[in-house]
Amino acid sequence: MKLLEYEAKTILRDSGVSVPEFVVVKPNEPILEPINFPVVVKSQVPVGGRGKAGGVKVVETQESFLETLERLSLLEIKGHLPQVLIAEQKLDIAHERYLSLTIDRESSSIQLMANADGGVDVEGQTGFGIWSMEYGQTDFRLTAEVLAGAYHEPDDVAALQDIIEKLYNCFISSDATLCEINPLVKMTDGQYVCADAKMELDDAAAFRHPDWNFEDRPKDSNFVTLDPGGNVATIANGAGLAMATVDAVAACGMKPANFLDVGGGANKNSVLAAFQRIMEYPSVRVIVINIFAGITRCDEVAAAIIAARQEIADLPPLFIRLAGTNYAAAVDLLKAADIPILATLEDCLEAAQREVRS
Ligand code: GDP
Ligand code: MN
Repeated sequence: MKLLEYEAKTILRDSGVSVPEFVVVKPNEPILEPINFPVVVKSQVPVGGRGKAGGVKVVETQESFLETLERLSLLEIKGHLPQVLIAEQKLDIAHERYLSLTIDRESSSIQLMANADGGVDVEGQTGFGIWSMEYGQTDFRLTAEVLAGAYHEPDDVAALQDIIEKLYNCFISSDATLCEINPLVKMTDGQYVCADAKMELDDAAAFRHPDWNFEDRPKDSNFVTLDPGGNVATIANGAGLAMATVDAVAACGMKPANFLDVGGGANKNSVLAAFQRIMEYPSVRVIVINIFAGITRCDEVAAAIIAARQEIADLPPLFIRLAGTNYAAAVDLLKAADIPILATLEDCLEAAQREVRS
């Protein structure tokens, strides 16, 4: 489950991590809390790159505040209109740094990534420092020294130790799979604050979080992010087949971004929603679809595939293997829409590899 910035910041704040003060604002609803100008108005959409898309605006007066709220609430960013905006205390920024925690499944540890330059231009930058943090880590001194080195701030070890310790503990206790702070801001007064936060939580852990009542977010334990930087997305039905599909993708040397079991009752809407979710991964180059239909009907999946092709701009190439109930009808539908279907999963993976390598 991907959180909006203000939801992530609420979790971080509750864990003692320093975040700017903010007020949550909903379009066309009265604002009950006082706004202390200047503020930064930020669109709460579940995608990055809001700054470049015009979704982050500094506002100095009440008049331009209302105007900015109206403008941003109508500004679609990568296909998303915000239901919520925040008005956040404006920061006096000295430096913008990059910091993220993810799970490294290969080494069963938490991966810390850091870079001295953070902010809106990190995409495409290379040379980020990557370090492992062990599960159960309690001493954060060495990690803080490493961070201070990455940021060229030898005097900030203590401050960075406080941040990384709280972030790590928050990551563990929240069952997070991703926590990206970009930028981690060093202010002109020397204090650090998380100016932006992107968090993903492990849906499979929802049972131990009665506190997870995020708005309008279906709890979908059948969709798991495996690698937010993965290059292959998967759609399969049945947990066993979905796992086997992920394993097969990885065995071919590609990086599966997600696990998805669309379930026995997969229908056009649920499959279309899966495509939309996959589109949130920036690095996905191909989508492998592996459906063995029993209760699920191939023709309904085919209809969703066709709808996705029509409705989602930039949909990556699809490699599709279908079998089972209403297979023939699905073949007719896909043929009419000029979407190829392959005989086996092996064929899909071979084609996917060619595409990923190209
Ligand atoms: P993103 O573009 O979706 O990652 O949104 P961010 O929240 O990271 O904001 C983008 C950029 O806006 C940041 O990198 C900062 O340069 C700038 N920004 C965000 N908040 C503030 C703030 O409080 N003060 C100032 N001066 N700049 C800010
Ligand atoms: Mn950001």
